[in-house]
Amino acid sequence: MIKKTGVYLLALAGAGIILAFVGQNLFVVSPVGGTIASDVSLQLLTAGRIAALLGAYVLLLQLLLIGRVRWIEQVFGLDRLSRAHHYNGLAVLVLLMLHPVLVTFGYSLRDDVPFFEQELDFLRNWEDVLSAAIGLSLLIIIGILSIGFIRRRFRYELWYGIHLPLYIAVALAIGHQFEVGSDLTLNNYFRFYWYFLYGFVAVNLLWYRLLRPILHALRHDFRVDRIEAEAEDVTSVYITGRNLARFRRRPGQFLIVRFLARGFWREAHPFSLSCPAEANYLRLSIKRLGDFTGKIPRLVPGTRVIIEGPNGVFTPGRCKREKVLLIAGGIGITPLRAMADELLQQDRDVTLLYGNRKQNGIVFERELAALSEKGLRVVHILSDEPDYPGEKGVLTQEAIARLVPDVADREVFLCGPPKMMQGILKSLHALNVPRRHVYYERFAL
Ligand SMILES: Cc1cc2nc3c(=O)[nH]c(=O)nc-3n(C[C@H](O)[C@H](O)[C@H](O)COP(=O)(O)OP(=O)(O)OC[C@H]3O[C@@H](n4cnc5c(N)ncnc54)[C@H](O)[C@@H]3O)c2cc1C
Repeated sequence: MIKKTGVYLLALAGAGIILAFVGQNLFVVSPVGGTIASDVSLQLLTAGRIAALLGAYVLLLQLLLIGRVRWIEQVFGLDRLSRAHHYNGLAVLVLLMLHPVLVTFGYSLRDDVPFFEQELDFLRNWEDVLSAAIGLSLLIIIGILSIGFIRRRFRYELWYGIHLPLYIAVALAIGHQFEVGSDLTLNNYFRFYWYFLYGFVAVNLLWYRLLRPILHALRHDFRVDRIEAEAEDVTSVYITGRNLARFRRRPGQFLIVRFLARGFWREAHPFSLSCPAEANYLRLSIKRLGDFTGKIPRLVPGTRVIIEGPNGVFTPGRCKREKVLLIAGGIGITPLRAMADELLQQDRDVTLLYGNRKQNGIVFERELAALSEKGLRVVHILSDEPDYPGEKGVLTQEAIARLVPDVADREVFLCGPPKMMQGILKSLHALNVPRRHVYYERFAL
């Protein structure tokens, strides 16, 4: 909580400095002359400046939100950051689109020039305005392509690739900010502040996206050790490396992996660790879902692996209660399987409800049976196996209440297909499990 507040305060302080600077500047000497109280054009120009500065600021925040920056990710979790970046992206677009409209309006009013004539003058005659306009157009295109129903039409890799011009857009707008923005050209302190913001973001991105994974690869020399069929359509990839004890990870966390082999190296995909943290290997258990995951059984031992992470805050570290309920659907078992050992070692009362369609889809069946001897209560629920002697159907509110009567006293960790998770979150709410005692991991960023 303290860390969260700290990050929020840092972000607000950054924006506060901008507002404080523009504010004090207005009452000292306005860069464009005149007094703000009496002059509508000046009010428009000031609003335009604020929109530009805040827009550029939230654009830099946007880069941090999607930059897998560890010190932020470890506070909020990557899935939350990914959702925050959708809303933040909207703020970027609104603010940066307001900027040219307000400024053009302000100047056209002040100089009595028609709006579009003024806009053309900016584009033709003002240094760096055209490149900034191209940058803004790129941002607008990225924004449109990110709207839910449009986004869903693209393959993930294509949609991800569409985001890369974001960096070009940022680069195109830099000249405009430093050469034309009067706040930056006229005040050295503010100019240094702006350099600092860009430098801060650049260093974080360079370190967390590029240098840290390379450093980890050099230090640990991660390689595929072996591949094992785990259940129907699920394959486990065992990865070994030097000094794995120094690769600090928590059960429940996930890695973003890139296998350096033909047909694999272009794509990095996230997978949860499916083994306890103290194991002397890393294990990813991967369900065949699409083209990349479909190729996993073809990986060969010895393949080098580049790893980003570990990421995620879906770990037993959040657990405060003595009783815990784990609910998994299908391949959503992976982070929960990794957590089970640690929770049992902590002497907690742990129940696992594990839903699958068929018995041959149950992942880690033997490992779970072994864990049940150490105290884990495991209930399998199968939906498409009419002759199964155990629990049949899907996990409804009624089933949860019957199978775990003390559910309201438990902390719940949930991971499964999106539809199942939605239904279970509603059921848990109806069963009086406080929201703060429910943690879930979505297998989507
Ligand atoms: C935090 C997290 C943990 C995960 N843990 C596991 C796990 O333990 N085992 C497992 O089998 N699966 C896991 N997944 C899901 C796994 O990442 C996807 O199934 C896989 O990336 C699909 O790739 P594909 O090309 O085979 O399928 P596609 O058909 O191309 O993609 C299917 C869906 O997977 C997602 N996806 C695809 N590529 C990526 C990518 N590069 N990065 C992020 N998401 C992508 C998209 O939502 C896409 O719609 C996890 C996902 C996340 C976000």
